[in-house]
Amino acid sequence: MSRLVLLGPPGAGKGTQAARLAKSMSVPAVSTGDIFRRNVTEGTELGVAAKSYMDAGEYVPDSVTNTMVAERLREQDALDGFVLDGYPRTAEQVTELDRVLAGVGASLDRVVELTADFDEIVTRLTKRSTDQGRSDDTEGVVRHRLEVYAEQTAPLAAIYDDRGLLVRVNGMGDMDDVTVRLLDALGASGARGT
Ligand code: AMP
Repeated sequence: MSRLVLLGPPGAGKGTQAARLAKSMSVPAVSTGDIFRRNVTEGTELGVAAKSYMDAGEYVPDSVTNTMVAERLREQDALDGFVLDGYPRTAEQVTELDRVLAGVGASLDRVVELTADFDEIVTRLTKRSTDQGRSDDTEGVVRHRLEVYAEQTAPLAAIYDDRGLLVRVNGMGDMDDVTVRLLDALGASGARGT
């Protein structure tokens, strides 16, 4: 029980919680946003392809994102498990993830949706913009990212719910409390310690 997806709006704390969950499960956290940002910083071809979309708060095209994730999930350290943070975000990415996992004889064990209040997120992310200098955390871009999330990614929860994989966890409040809630929810649904 070690292949997890973390769904949730930008600013719900997915990055922090994915890293903690991955550590507790001894699997890598795979964050598409982090991979894109690293490539932007290093000026790679992938980074150049992604940057304008990221700065505008748009999704990087599925063709680009899917290729990158397929390569990452076929790396040795991800074969026994992973926590995916920020992927899938579109219905097409859901299909591609199924295909990649089927290709290595695997499937998802759980999908956790971290829920969060949009007004609270705008406050959090604009603060992150000041603290970390992220160019996609200005208020206008944050609001647009939330709209894109509501339109394209929030509906994915229903797909995974229909498959019996979805667990919902309140992502608001203290980060340590959220981690406890997450581990409890996964334990209660059979994921912890297996
Ligand atoms: P994040 O750090 O997860 O909020 O991602 C930052 C930005 O990277 C997003 O606003 C998108 O522009 C891009 N990105 C990350 N993951 C994906 C994805 N699965 N599909 C498309 N674009 C993505």
